[in-house]
Amino acid sequence: MKNAVNSTTSRESSPKVGFVSLGCPKALVDSERILTQLKVEGYEIVPSYGEADAVVVNTCGFIDSAVQESLDAIGEALHENGKVIVTGCLGKRSELIRESYPDVLSISGPQDYASVMSAVHQAIPPTRNKFLDLVPDIGVKLTPKHYAYLKISEGCNHRCSFCIIPSMRGDLVSRPVDQVLMEAEKLAKGGVKELLVISQDTSAYGVDVRYAEREWRGKSYRTRMTELCEGLSELGIWTRLHYVYPYPHVDEIMPLMADGKILPYLDIPFQHASPRILKLMKRPGNVDKTLERIQNWRRQVPDLTIRSTFIVGFPGETDAEFQELLGFLREAELDRVGAFAYSPVDGAKANDLPGQIDEELKEDRLEQFMAVQAEISAAKLQRKVGSTIKVLIDEIDADGAWGRSSADAPEIDGAVRIDDGQMLKPGQFVDVLVEEADAHDLYGRLA
Ligand code: SF4
Repeated sequence: MKNAVNSTTSRESSPKVGFVSLGCPKALVDSERILTQLKVEGYEIVPSYGEADAVVVNTCGFIDSAVQESLDAIGEALHENGKVIVTGCLGKRSELIRESYPDVLSISGPQDYASVMSAVHQAIPPTRNKFLDLVPDIGVKLTPKHYAYLKISEGCNHRCSFCIIPSMRGDLVSRPVDQVLMEAEKLAKGGVKELLVISQDTSAYGVDVRYAEREWRGKSYRTRMTELCEGLSELGIWTRLHYVYPYPHVDEIMPLMADGKILPYLDIPFQHASPRILKLMKRPGNVDKTLERIQNWRRQVPDLTIRSTFIVGFPGETDAEFQELLGFLREAELDRVGAFAYSPVDGAKANDLPGQIDEELKEDRLEQFMAVQAEISAAKLQRKVGSTIKVLIDEIDADGAWGRSSADAPEIDGAVRIDDGQMLKPGQFVDVLVEEADAHDLYGRLA
């Protein structure tokens, strides 16, 4: 089964569910929650369509290619199994799914765990069994044992013109800080060594609940990014922040990074550097003085890694504005960068903007952009040769080990190859002497 979740138990009498999980880390967390609930109720998760009594497909609807991938996955599950329950972001566009696949059993949107469970109950009633394995306290995780995504909120209050997430996931709803900290504590106790804080807008955490105060371990914390980071730093494991928008209070977390309490890593989706394009994109955060702020952060935290994503060829982007973006890239010297050529998303406001850019020009700009960034990344990694860095081990093979430093988030950034790491174990921290670098990865040996 493509993208299927592996089997979790093997019990003859249990009702069996197949699970296909697509989409971003936020969708992955939704999948983990549904899988945990399925397991709690005695369902067995099986890895093939043939073994399953029904299949749940958690879809993504962010860009056109993700929509197609989701529709293909639904079609495959219907063809191979026949009983299919659809959930996730594409579920918000049920007419599109019904048009192609009128026979799906149920369609629900993201975070609608109750609808998924009720559809599963109807398709295959649960049979409670007193010999069921207890679900581990931390629930079912789809990531390796040593790192976990920590979702701090759902939805988003912004209305970026190229994005339909708010219409799919609704406005910002922050989880109370004590609940997030308790979940993080359980994960740490369960062996997790690195927490990846995710949301649609991490800097906005708590705005909706007016930064409500809660108690954790006898101390009061506000439902707010800085206070959350302070709490997480008590756990003594790595905390990595994703989807941080450059609001002024991001400056507050620099001392925590400088003190080694959270990882010196910021994932900030800048998307562009031209004020006019950012305005057309309706991006949150103040773009003024961005370069100055980056320099200021680096003064306080010299080993800060900044990761970002950009869109090139946004409607109306002139050549001068594209050059402005390249200029920003050169000056900002960001460490890790992902870029996309703008592609219209069904239902997004940006589709109606004048000056849509020709595909060929978009691809040409993307190529230029990536070439500039490749040079910057390679030069920045080259500067690490000769230094000793702390690495968290991800996997081992016959030729050595792969791990990640504070500068590398799983799945999206580079990695560190350790040639003499055959005897290491996933989840172990080691010091590595960096001997070589290319545009993405570092290579070294145990220090
Ligand atoms: S901040 Fe903008 S791009 Fe991000 S989820 Fe919200 S609306 Fe979409």
